[in-house]
Amino acid sequence: AKAAGGNTYRFFTPEMNLRISERVTLENNLRRALYGDEIFVHYQPQTDVRNGRLIGFEALVRWQHPELGNIPPTRFIPVAEESSLIYQVGERVLREACQQNRHWQDLGLPPVVVAVNLSAVQLRLPDLPQRVARILAETGLDARWLELEITESAFIHDTERIIDVLQQLRAIGIKLSVDDFGTGYSSLGYLKRLPFDRIKIDQSFVRDLPDGSDDVAIVRAIIAIAASLQKEVIAEGVEQEAQSEFLLQLGCELMQGYHFGKPASAASAEALLRGMAQQ
Ligand code: C2E
Ligand code: CA
Ligand code: CA
Ligand code: CA
Repeated sequence: AKAAGGNTYRFFTPEMNLRISERVTLENNLRRALYGDEIFVHYQPQTDVRNGRLIGFEALVRWQHPELGNIPPTRFIPVAEESSLIYQVGERVLREACQQNRHWQDLGLPPVVVAVNLSAVQLRLPDLPQRVARILAETGLDARWLELEITESAFIHDTERIIDVLQQLRAIGIKLSVDDFGTGYSSLGYLKRLPFDRIKIDQSFVRDLPDGSDDVAIVRAIIAIAASLQKEVIAEGVEQEAQSEFLLQLGCELMQGYHFGKPASAASAEALLRGMAQQ
């Protein structure tokens, strides 16, 4: 950028330059990281609170950079989505999660569903169902142990085509859940038409429970919608016993959050499965 003297118009402010170069640096780092083992998966337990049983895990991508340290997915997923690196990140996570789950089954541990996040960008790939089917075949995981989490906002555009892709995924036997429910441009009309199994109540509505009368009303409504559509409902971001008790009273039986376990390594997840096998 030119010095802003006299009549000179400065197109990029220094702050903008910094942000752009930061973004490019992140993108280049990510491209390189995909060749090594800086990118891996953590697993967070999902629990049936009625009996305390572990029902599965959500797979969450992690990036441990040798110099920059841990880079959170909220920072690098958007960059990956803008640069088409998301396809590689997504396939990497999907393959690792399926491989891991199959490995646990091979060890004779109780079978569980692993839920993998799917970016809206990935959902627009016309051959997504074939790609997912190939990864299942390569890893030897039966489709019924895989769930895909798709954020509500992914359904706004191209709804017809997306419904078609979702139907193909479901035909393979994969479970589908609507992530971050209530935060997007919810329309109950589209919900009825989408082929999915489960709704995830966004953590922003869970945070202030059991206080926060708006949140109570919203959570109540979401649970009622799920029941009337005969879908499962799971609450995320459950951090406290009081939240858990309240949700259970409202009829939400499946939960995920720090109260039940933080996202942790595959080894930690395996320890939970071993504990469950001994029960
Ligand atoms: P998300 O799918 O809504 O995932 C839940 C996030 O909430 C995770 O953050 C998780 O660590 C965090 N969380 C879980 N329990 C609690 C709790 O009790 N309290 C609080 N405050 N937070 C909790 P994380 O791992 O940083 O991921 C953030 C977001 O990044 C995810 O939100 C998802 O949108 C995206 N993401 C993560 N992994 C992947 C991936 O493999 N692919 C794609 N496309 N996106 C991913
Ligand atoms: Ca998710
Ligand atoms: Ca979520
Ligand atoms: Ca989220």
